[in-house]
Amino acid sequence: MPPHPKRKHSSGRRDRRRAHDALTPPNVVACANCGAKIAAYTVCPQCGYYDGRKVFEPKKKQAKK
Ligand SMILES: [Zn+2]
Repeated sequence: MPPHPKRKHSSGRRDRRRAHDALTPPNVVACANCGAKIAAYTVCPQCGYYDGRKVFEPKKKQAKK
């Protein structure tokens, strides 16, 4: 006989496995300099600030919505 599950897993067992499958939303914070919503621990793409200092010069096109 080929390797094959002998029995179907119960719906309860399936659901218990999936109890840990929930996704968590990305950690979004407001930029301390311009207030834009950005991912935590990243340089702000809007104003180029990180940790209270300017890291790069942002592109001229400001805040396209
Ligand atoms: Zn910013």
